[in-house]
Amino acid sequence: MLHKSATIRQTDIALNPIDVSYIPHHMNEDALSEHAVSPPIFQTSNFCFSSFVELKAALEDEVGSCLYTRGNNPTVNLVESKIAALEHGEKAKLLGAGVAAISNAVMAFVRQGDHIICVADSYGWMQRLLTYLERFGVSHTIVDGTRTEDIERAIRPETRIIYLESPTSLTFFIQDIPAITAIAKAHGIRTIMDNSWATPIFCNPIDFGVDLVVHSLSKYLGGNSDIIGGVIVGKAEDIDHIVWQESLQMGAVADPFMAWLVMRGMRTLHIRMPVHYRSALAVAQFLENHPRVASVNYPMLASHPQHELAQKLFRGGSGLFSFRLKTHSVEDVARFVDSLSLFKRAVSWGGYESLVFPEAAHYAGSVPADRLNLIRLHIGLEDASLLVQDLAQALEGV
Ligand SMILES: *Cc1c(COP(=O)(O)O)cnc(C)c1O
Repeated sequence: MLHKSATIRQTDIALNPIDVSYIPHHMNEDALSEHAVSPPIFQTSNFCFSSFVELKAALEDEVGSCLYTRGNNPTVNLVESKIAALEHGEKAKLLGAGVAAISNAVMAFVRQGDHIICVADSYGWMQRLLTYLERFGVSHTIVDGTRTEDIERAIRPETRIIYLESPTSLTFFIQDIPAITAIAKAHGIRTIMDNSWATPIFCNPIDFGVDLVVHSLSKYLGGNSDIIGGVIVGKAEDIDHIVWQESLQMGAVADPFMAWLVMRGMRTLHIRMPVHYRSALAVAQFLENHPRVASVNYPMLASHPQHELAQKLFRGGSGLFSFRLKTHSVEDVARFVDSLSLFKRAVSWGGYESLVFPEAAHYAGSVPADRLNLIRLHIGLEDASLLVQDLAQALEGV
C-alpha cells in the first residue's frame, strides 16, 4: 500500500513539475490583501527570502518576522492584531490551546524560588500547572479571590504573579480587579487574568490595570465548538518576552486554519454575546424562582452576592453559570441531567449549543460532598423559552 502511494506521488511530480514562480517572496500586507474580502489562509510552515541579507535579518528577529510558522504566520498575525485591538492591548500571541496561553504566560515570568498567588476555583488545569511548577521550585498560595485583603496578605518578597479568573470556574465568584491590580502594582507584581467568560465584548481587564489577559479561544471567540486555541494579550515587551522565553521553545503553535476559523468566529462575537446574555439572564431568573433549586450562581443576577461589583466590571454577562439543586443525591443529579433533551451533556462551552455539565461527573472522589449538587449550564443561541421548558420538565423529576 505504502509502496503504491509512493509510486503515484513520483508519477505526479514527473507529470506536473512544481512551479514555484507564484510563491510570494514577501509575506507582507500586500500579499495578505489582494482585495480578497475574506483574508487568505497562509497554510505554510516556512517562508523564503530573496537574499542572504534578508534571511539573516529574519533569523535575527525570529520573534518579529515571518521566518517559520512556529514563530509567526501572516494569517495568525492578522488574528493576533484584531484580538489585541479588541482587548485594548498592544500585542497578542495566538497559541494552540487556552492552557498553552496560561502556561506560557505564567512560566515566562517565574524561576526557581519564585511564588505565585492564584485565586481559588480557577480553571482546573491552571491549578494543575501550579502543582507541576512545584517540581521546578516555584511555590504558590491559593486565596479566596473575593477577599482582596487575603490576596495582599499572601504577598511575599518572591511573589512574581497574581493570577486571576473572574468569574471563577464552576462557582462564579468575581474579584475586585482594579483594587487587586493597584496592590500588585505597588509591589511590582505582574497580574494575569483569564477573561474567557466575559470576552472583550463585556470586559477589558487591561483597562482595570491587568498586565496580561489570557483567553481560551475554544470558547466564545471561536464561538462554534470546532477549534482548540488560546491567546495572550498585553504590552508588546511582555508578549515578545513570552514568545522568546516560552512559546518558540514549547511549540504549542496556533495553526493558520485554526486562526482563520477564530477570525471568522470573531466577526459575529458582538452579535452573539448579547443573545447569550439575554437568554442566560432569563434562564437564571427562572431557576432562582424554582422550588427545587437551592441557589443560582450568575454574577449578573441581582441576587448574586457580588452583583454590584459585577456591574462595575462587566458590561454584560455570558451564557455560562451554575446552580445548585436542593437534593444532594447523585442519582437525582444524574436523572435530572439525563432527562434534559435540548441541553447536550458535555464539557466546554461558548458555541451555539446549550450544554449541561454536572460537577458530580468530575474525576471520582475529587468533588467535595457539598458540591455534588452543583450543575453548570451553558446557555446557547437557541430560543430561551424552549430552554426554560426543557429545564422545567427535567426539574419535575428531582
Ligand atoms: C476551557 C478553559 C480554559 C482552557 O482552554 P483550552 O482551549 O481548553 O485549552 C482556560 N480557562 C477557562 C476559564 C476555560 O473555561
